[in-house]
Amino acid sequence: MAKCTVITSLCSGKDMTQAGAVYLCTALTNAGLSYRMLDLSSSLDYSNTPKELNTKCTSPNWLNPNSIKYGDWMNDYLPKPTNIGEYIFFSSLYSPDVVFHARLSYNIKKSNPNAITVIGGCAIVSLQKEQLKLLSEFFNYILIGHDIKYLLNAVIGANQHSKSNCTIIKKITPPSFQPDYSLLPLNDLVTVYSGHGCYYGKCSFCDYPSRSYQKVVFRSANKVAIDVNNIFQLQPKIKDIVLTQDSYSKKYLNETVNEIARFGGKIPYNLMLRAETWVTDELGENLAKSGCTDVFIGAEALDEEILAILNKGLGVEKIKNAIKILSKFVKVTIGLILFVPGISEKSLITQLKNIEMILPYLYHIEPEILTIVNGSAFALNPSKFGIKLYEAKNPINNSWCFGLSHDIPWSMRDANLMRQWFYFFRNLKELCINHVKPGYWQAIEVLEKKYKLAR
Ligand code: SF4
Repeated sequence: MAKCTVITSLCSGKDMTQAGAVYLCTALTNAGLSYRMLDLSSSLDYSNTPKELNTKCTSPNWLNPNSIKYGDWMNDYLPKPTNIGEYIFFSSLYSPDVVFHARLSYNIKKSNPNAITVIGGCAIVSLQKEQLKLLSEFFNYILIGHDIKYLLNAVIGANQHSKSNCTIIKKITPPSFQPDYSLLPLNDLVTVYSGHGCYYGKCSFCDYPSRSYQKVVFRSANKVAIDVNNIFQLQPKIKDIVLTQDSYSKKYLNETVNEIARFGGKIPYNLMLRAETWVTDELGENLAKSGCTDVFIGAEALDEEILAILNKGLGVEKIKNAIKILSKFVKVTIGLILFVPGISEKSLITQLKNIEMILPYLYHIEPEILTIVNGSAFALNPSKFGIKLYEAKNPINNSWCFGLSHDIPWSMRDANLMRQWFYFFRNLKELCINHVKPGYWQAIEVLEKKYKLAR
């Protein structure tokens, strides 16, 4: 029997290779520990999770461990825990993963009380204290951070594991080793860890300012390029290699692009970038020469007033300029945030005009409903922004995952502005129908239907 079991995310699709699982398997291999994989990917559809999971914040299930303990319905989505080994590592990518992993850990411990269960991954990093407390009932260890070798050693190297208390271990620095991508099947989409953190850190919708760590970390550009090449050598038909860092300095981006270019510029990859003022033709050309095919820019808005409320730190002209430059060399997709509070009708008219102007330069647009997350400026000072939090009646998002999603249900005080946003959305849809994947419209249409019914 293998000493360890690695359990993957349930929500990630079969077309994706989870970098977190690759790092974990590499660290286990390097530590000389045998393991087996329990691949649960595609067991859940993230955009259509089971209705039992969608729990209103006023429900007794909200942040309540009993919802996991007595959630027998979850067993239909989970394997029976047999031959599970001594250590069980859960790699959580999305909030629903956390809930199902907790339930599986609970099931495992019922039949094998000595098993050491450990949870980590992207979905854990942004959880708040209260949420971690809920989770700690179900695991021996909660790991927060990216330095997997350190985190693993802290678990395996412990003299004794407490049965009654959960240990939370945090280590944010980047992993110190090169991951071995041959350990897992390589699918169409593979992520490469290129760093984390944000040197701006002030957007009002983002929880970055309240995170316990705010260091910007860039992984060695050379190591990133080696990963990109290794993946391509293992799977030359790969469709999508995505770099994780979305907050580059000019120096680090140039280094990364140059390092990847050294492998011949034939490996398709893509990245996320702020609409920086230092985006130039030269950078665009170098990106394309290195193999970069697509750049995603989180523009969020194309109107000064909306950008000011979002505290994006960038103006419309700068964003448009970066899009225009990059679009000469790579496909540019932008993200937009809809339903921003505290703005005027005039802003929505201006924004639509600006989108129309920039449309010929865009490959895709991803319009999304504003989510209010714990720790963001919106969440810390809702009345300043004209919003109400934890709205049981007619909230913009329904709370879900028993409170383990870090979104907060909210509503806009100004009902008239809500109507104007729906009007904007219909105009946007007419304008950009070919630039937006249908799922984005559907999410807004569901919200609109709900609001019409409530009136
Ligand atoms: S949303 Fe803003 S603050 Fe948050 S990581 Fe991105 S650029 Fe930084």
